Amino acid sequence: MPSFSILVLNSGSSSIKFSIYEAGNGARTRLVEGAVDGIGTDLGKFWIEDASGKKLVDQTPPVPSRAVAFSLVADALKSGKFSAPAAVGHRMVSGGPTVQENQRITPELIDEMESYTEFAPLHTPIAIYIMREALKLFPGIPNFVILDTYFHRTMPEVAKHMPIPEEYSAMGVRRYGAHGISYESIVYQLQPNVPERLIAAHLGNGASISAIRYGKCIDTSMGLTPTGGIISGTRTGDIDPGVLLFILRKIAETTESASAAADQLEAVASKKAGLLGVSDLSNDMRDLREAIKEGNAKARLAVDKFVWTIQKWIGSYVAELGGLDMLVFTGGIGENDIDSRAEICAGLSALGIVLDEKRNNVRGAAVISAENSAVVVRVIPPLEDLMIVNHVVRLLGE
Ligand code: AMP
Repeated sequence: MPSFSILVLNSGSSSIKFSIYEAGNGARTRLVEGAVDGIGTDLGKFWIEDASGKKLVDQTPPVPSRAVAFSLVADALKSGKFSAPAAVGHRMVSGGPTVQENQRITPELIDEMESYTEFAPLHTPIAIYIMREALKLFPGIPNFVILDTYFHRTMPEVAKHMPIPEEYSAMGVRRYGAHGISYESIVYQLQPNVPERLIAAHLGNGASISAIRYGKCIDTSMGLTPTGGIISGTRTGDIDPGVLLFILRKIAETTESASAAADQLEAVASKKAGLLGVSDLSNDMRDLREAIKEGNAKARLAVDKFVWTIQKWIGSYVAELGGLDMLVFTGGIGENDIDSRAEICAGLSALGIVLDEKRNNVRGAAVISAENSAVVVRVIPPLEDLMIVNHVVRLLGE
């Protein structure tokens, strides 16, 4: 089979990332990657680099809208400088209850996924927009949706089901989880020695934890939406529902329509809470670490809350798994924040986890546990785009 190119489009709530891979005959080579960041700002960032890390584009254009962001990407892709894709893979956080398999995108499928926007309200609108634009940009080229929920489909019903009246369960309200492509890539990178009992913590601006047995997800922290689970950059994570009702009633005092009040509540729970809400300073771990050095008590509390929540979740997953063989950190904080890893593991000594301070003093892939640790602790950066390419190649039948 001659080699062919696959374009991966991976959008966040304020960014579009993309990469082009050469595939075929089992080979996977990333040719270029790039991104437009800062959608909705006057000073965005647009860059493209080749496989050696050489910057081919490095600009700071205004990016007032997602349309402008996508047109920057589209113009670059159509410039003739990069190989034309034979297929496109789109990362999608949630396709709702009816779209759970990775599959070829049709206009009807896009409409169906759009009808479940509430299942990932920050991520779905931009992903849907990009899918429609990509179908126009590359007419006749197959586009595939690769779902973050796919990895979590193996969870047992007891983990998926929410403790709510049946009428809402029947509408598809249940635990779906997110970051599934990242978790899948952790399991992929551990092959052929995937441990029986694995906990992986994807700690980025969005943060989640999964319990994985023999490479299959048995539980994950995010719920119906990525707002559930552990506290993250701007999201509450799991919280007493009474808190949301309290805030909703406060908002309703000055808001006329119920849907406007719901929108405001959503902004509180998913954009203004978490590390940002507690610290009253920033959602960015680097800023919080700087502030802690200067003695900022609120920043300390925010990070303590983050660490404490993660420890509790790991403890409950150890109970679910009946022990633990390996703990993996990934995501921007998991890969780079040496202090977060040290603080989380310091509270897990009862599980026999012993970190090696020297080994932990790294950014990027490493084994960071001590020789005498009962659990291997590793840092493994995710390979989400590669996973998307693998799914696309499989779906193409190559
Ligand atoms: P992600 O969403 O995976 O890109 O992760 C973003 C998070 O990673 C932010 O909270 C960043 O502060 C954090 N992060 C990135 N680099 C570092 C670093 N060198 N030290 C500490 N935190 C970092």
